Amino acid sequence: MTMDGILFDVDDTLVDTKGAFARALEAVRAEHLPHVPAERDPEILSHWRTDPGGFYSRYTRGEMDHVTQRRHRAALLHETFGAAPVTEKSFEAWDALFWGTFERSWTAHDDARAAIDAVVAAGLSVGVVTNAATELQERKLKMAGLGDLPVLVGVDTLGFGKPDPRVFLEGARRLGTEPSRTAYVGDEPTVDALAAHQASLTGVWLDRAGHRRGPGYGAHAQHGVALPGAAEPKAGESNAGGPKAAEPNAAEPNAAERNAAEPNAAQRAALAGDPQDPEALRAAGVMVIETLAQLPAALGYDTGRRN
Ligand SMILES: [Mg+2]
Repeated sequence: MTMDGILFDVDDTLVDTKGAFARALEAVRAEHLPHVPAERDPEILSHWRTDPGGFYSRYTRGEMDHVTQRRHRAALLHETFGAAPVTEKSFEAWDALFWGTFERSWTAHDDARAAIDAVVAAGLSVGVVTNAATELQERKLKMAGLGDLPVLVGVDTLGFGKPDPRVFLEGARRLGTEPSRTAYVGDEPTVDALAAHQASLTGVWLDRAGHRRGPGYGAHAQHGVALPGAAEPKAGESNAGGPKAAEPNAAEPNAAERNAAEPNAAQRAALAGDPQDPEALRAAGVMVIETLAQLPAALGYDTGRRN
């Protein structure tokens, strides 16, 4: 295959967001869940990243704002670990500690800079398509030393986020590449890779060691939207985010294009059982890599000759 461009997810793809969440949640546990021993930090982190209440998905659908989704997740975390309920008042201090620690902890994954440089050296265009706000991600990338990467589409660009296919198509349009000659690389198998594949891009799942979400991941809407048969995202309705696109429907693929890329019944069943099953994802048309260093070769670019 020949690619003209690569679009990257930010969190847990380029930036070690899991590590930043770990530090933020350790600080929160010590201060606000003092009865919970430090040995349970991995459980707390897994709970946060799995988002069992599906609140981040609701944010990406424009159903609640960024701080509100975080307050709901904090409340569910406290309830799950038997801590005092989170109130409007207590959340202020909770969030100042959590978010402050999180922001100070943004660093790039070790393999991010070299992978970006390798594909740029091979002549490809690169950019970012993310499910967080554009301004936040620009700050995050800058702090992580990746500020040269343009944030082409944030959740505020169209007013909704991945896995809606229009988000990926808008990314390719802004990058100036045909979707069929554009790859999308992300750490979430369904929201990123499978959804990009269904939008007619090359979907690449970055299955980093130790970075998969916990059991129950995707139970709320995440693979429901990526897999056929779920309710359509309500783009434009109750949008709590930023500005909406002038013509959000213009980039939508037609039904035939979407159906051609959809997984068959067996693949759907496998993914419904485990949305992080590499074999089922490969069978459904997704490329799977374990580090960003593998990206150029996976896409057919032998960058070794350039060194
Ligand atoms: Mg991510």
